Amino acid sequence: MISFSRTIAQAILVFSIALSATGQAPTATSASARPADEERALRAFAAIRPIDVHVHVFKTEPAFQKMLERLNLKLLNILVMDDTNLNRKQLLSQIEDAVALVRSSGGHIALCTTFDPYKFEGASFSADAVKQLDRDFEQGAVAVKIWKNIGMEIKDSSGQYVMADDPRFEPIYKDLANHGKTLMTHQAEPDVAWGPKDASDPSWSYYRENPQWYVANRPGFPSKQRILDARDDVLARNPKLRMVGVHLGSMERDLNNIASHLDKYPNFAIDTAARMEYLMLMPPEKVSAFLIKYQDRVLYGTDLDLYSDANLPDALTEWQSTYARDWKFLATGETLTVEGKQVRGLNLPQPVLQKIFRSNAIRWIPGL
Ligand SMILES: [Zn+2]
Repeated sequence: MISFSRTIAQAILVFSIALSATGQAPTATSASARPADEERALRAFAAIRPIDVHVHVFKTEPAFQKMLERLNLKLLNILVMDDTNLNRKQLLSQIEDAVALVRSSGGHIALCTTFDPYKFEGASFSADAVKQLDRDFEQGAVAVKIWKNIGMEIKDSSGQYVMADDPRFEPIYKDLANHGKTLMTHQAEPDVAWGPKDASDPSWSYYRENPQWYVANRPGFPSKQRILDARDDVLARNPKLRMVGVHLGSMERDLNNIASHLDKYPNFAIDTAARMEYLMLMPPEKVSAFLIKYQDRVLYGTDLDLYSDANLPDALTEWQSTYARDWKFLATGETLTVEGKQVRGLNLPQPVLQKIFRSNAIRWIPGL
């Protein structure tokens, strides 16, 4: 993903320089600075009134809002509690900022809130979390996220990793089901996080930059299977709770496994966030058949972010090139270069695209 964006950014730079030489003055954000094929893809993407169900946005600016309007784009902005990240350490200020962002967005941004799982051993943890989430729902939150720190980071006082099916989380799941809200679960990580090192894996660069999540050769560390089993246990015990397993439900290399989960759990759907490249690198006939068969169960998401210190022109370039690339892959028969390989677009039927890019989001995350 990152290397792809960089390539695109370089291509745009070269293109911009070429335009400058002819006396025009493009900017990185203007339509004229983008290659014609990207512009064409973005126009078709906008026409479907897309919803991206997986972004992390910490600020807005007129040019960002303009992009949302130009692309007819709605975002689900997901909050995460991460005690290692300054932007994500404090819950209440994150919620406050996110609610303000939603209100300033003219209907283009919705909120997926979260709770503080680090407090899970406190006597009033479940009751406090439920109270806070109910307040967030009153302020318009449409979904709740749990993150990989459950399963992979947070331990109880006896040194055991806490799992998603811990009884202390159960009242929260019940509350969500009662309110008709959706649980977005990021559980575990791509296979490669458990090793061995694989430079050809689309997620490998992430572990180079975030070695704390590379868990190979850590004695006693939970297996990926164990973490996903705990998630599945939540699905089985809460049949009225809608769950979206983000990042292809962390089953990014195995469409058969995703399919059997979708067959087994009618309350389960997946998003594509940050895992589109895995789909791009699989045999196209297999991916097409999967997306057509499960066309009601796949939601489009990217994991794009906009941190408060982000350079806006660069961010706009990355966001739009990602949307153009994903559209080309799913909606056209054009050829893309992914991780150095030539990949043919799937050219999915229009009704399937309409579901993946829009209506599945509305059905699985009511209120969007
Ligand atoms: Zn994310």
